Parts: sequence; structure tokens; C-alpha cells
Amino acid sequence: GQCSAHCPVGAIYERDDTKKLLDAILDPELHVAVQIAPAVRVAIGEAFGLEPGTITTGKIYAALRRIGVDAIFDTNFSADLTIMEEGTEFVDRLTKGGVLPLITSCCPSWVDYMEKYCADMIPNFSTAKSPMMMQGALTKTYYADKKEIPKEKIFSAAIMPCTSKKFEIVRHKDMYASGQQDVDVVLTTRELARLIKQSGIDFLSLPDEGADSPIGAYTGAGTIFGATGGVMEAALRTGYFLVTGSEYEKITFEEVRGMDGIRTASIHIDGKELRVAIAHGVANVRDLLNEIRQARDEGKEPPYHFVEVMACRGGCIAGGGQPYNTTDEVRNARIAGMYADDQQSEIRCSHKNPFIEEIYKEFLETPGSGKAHELLHTHYQHRPLYTK
Ligand code: SF4
Repeated sequence: GQCSAHCPVGAIYERDDTKKLLDAILDPELHVAVQIAPAVRVAIGEAFGLEPGTITTGKIYAALRRIGVDAIFDTNFSADLTIMEEGTEFVDRLTKGGVLPLITSCCPSWVDYMEKYCADMIPNFSTAKSPMMMQGALTKTYYADKKEIPKEKIFSAAIMPCTSKKFEIVRHKDMYASGQQDVDVVLTTRELARLIKQSGIDFLSLPDEGADSPIGAYTGAGTIFGATGGVMEAALRTGYFLVTGSEYEKITFEEVRGMDGIRTASIHIDGKELRVAIAHGVANVRDLLNEIRQARDEGKEPPYHFVEVMACRGGCIAGGGQPYNTTDEVRNARIAGMYADDQQSEIRCSHKNPFIEEIYKEFLETPGSGKAHELLHTHYQHRPLYTK
């Protein structure tokens, strides 16, 4: 993406998918549903002169409605769902002696790296799909059923901070869990900003609107997915509940926040030590993996139980689809926006999202059920590089 500004002959240009969304909106046969990722809401305002980190969730929903989208959902809802599925997988491995550490898999750049360069660690990977892919699968099943709309008449779009997400939607046959392509198109934050401007919408004077039900409501845990350490913190908030069935008194885990490339923490819960690690930026990821691999090859106990990985420095708030000129100052401001959104949320733990409780009751049964696996989990494969 950023190459377009630097390529001397203009041969590299940014792929623009805005027309695909507009064509779908103009097609009277199609019902267009859009989801927005956590990190979009703290960055898109920069395209309209706002400070980095300003939360504009309500205005994004309003802008999409003005553009003509039929249903507005939030990827933060399925971030909550990811915590339920991944958390259950983690507790299962921890209590039944499965492969540890469990490593997060919601970043498609990291999945691609792992499938090419460290396929020996596939067993460590969480099988939970990314929130975007979970949301897509549910849009064309759960939501389609509820609204009685045939799934082939639903066009599902996602606004993401990330260019890799454009590849993720066709990564594996599991991305067609509904029987259709679960997410039809990905637009980056920059593409949405452009679309809003081209549509003549005055973003700053839009009212704050809400998302649509039932897969639009989210908790503070869902929103912090956009910052490095956020998935870990969200998982810690719910992990205790998944193990014991009761609530833990602690909500915030400052020890997993911050910008150091690799962060580790020991968390003591009910006399048990839980060792966690977070890496962001591919070079840091490689170092952390080598440490884990070495322990494994020497037959030692894994150095960590749970590991969060993001390819971008700072996490998705600084993804390749975000507004340009991302410095560390901008990263920190966007991260502060994410935690402010969490802080002001009435509900801050994924398992307490009433719509999450409802979707299990009505549709998915329990976390990790057969149905959940069919729609919300995936497989990985070694993709050897072509070498002569
Ligand atoms: Fe995309 Fe970067 Fe987030 Fe990975 S960390 S999902 S590459 S924005």
C-alpha cells in the first residue's frame, strides 16, 4: 500500500475495492451487511482532521447507513466470540494436557508467515478463526436465518485496518463455511475514508448512531483486540470464568499492556501460575518462537502457556490499511483510544455480552460445540516456498 507513494514509475498501486461495495449497494437484489474492525474506530477520524485515537464508532455506523448499507455489524461482537472459542480451547489444552503454548491466530500476516516458515508449530495454533471470519460466517447463517434472507442474497463486507485481510477471505475452504464466501470484500480504513468523502458526506457533523442487532453489540474486551496485548487481556478476563464458572475480581491486566516488542507476564490465579507472552512486529515474533521451539526440542516444559502474536508494531491500530504517517506517537494515541473505549463500556468481559449468551443458546450451543467448529474454526497447512 504505502509503496504507491514511493514507486518511481507508479507500477505499484493500492488495490481499491470500493467499487465492489458500491456495486453491491446499487444491486436491489442484495442485502448488504458491513462489519467494522476494532482498530478502525480510533484512526479513521485522522482522515477528517481529528486527533489520532479519537473514537468515532457512532459516526462510522451513521456514514455507512448514509452510503446505503442495509445492516451494520461490529467485528467487536465476534472478537467477544473469539474469546469464548479460543478461551475454551485454551482451558481444554491446559486441563487435558494439550499442546502448549496456545498461540493466537487472528492476524492473517502471521498465519501466512507461520504456514510458510514455521509449519512445525501448526499444532500450537489456535483453530479459532479471526473475528472477521467468524462474523462473516454468522452473517450468512445465523443472521440470514433470523431475517429469512437467502444467504446468496447477502453481500458481506468488512472494514479493516489491514491489507492482509483482503487475502484472508479466500485463504482456505473454511472461509466458505456458510456455503458461500463468508466475507465478500474487505475495504481498508483508508478506502472507507475515501468512500465517505466521495459520497459527499460531512463525517464530522454526523450524529452518533448504533449498530444493528443481534451481532453488533460488543464489550470492552472486544474493542481492545485492536491493540497489542488486547487479545491476551480479553482472554484473561474470561479465562477464569471458563475454568471456574465464577467471576474474577480483576478486570484490567496492566502487565500485558505497553509497546515493548516482547512482553511476558506471570499471572497467579487460585495458586496456579499462568505464563503469558505477547509479541508484535515480525522480528520479535521470530525471536519468541525460537525460544518456544528450543524448549520443545530440548524436551523442556513450555516457557509460556498462552502467546499473543500480531505482525504489525503496536497491533492492528497500526495496520497497513490505516491512515498513513503512523509514528509511535500516533500508535500510542490510537492505543489510548482503544483502552478509553474499553473503560467507558458498561460491560467489559466477553462472556457477559448478552448477545453472546443468546447466540450460544439459540444457535451455537456451547463454546467448542460441533456447530461452533463447523462455522468458527479453521485448519492450517504447510505452504512450502518455491525454491529451485
Ligand atoms: Fe492485519 Fe497488522 Fe492486525 Fe495482523 S496485526 S491483522 S497484519 S493489521
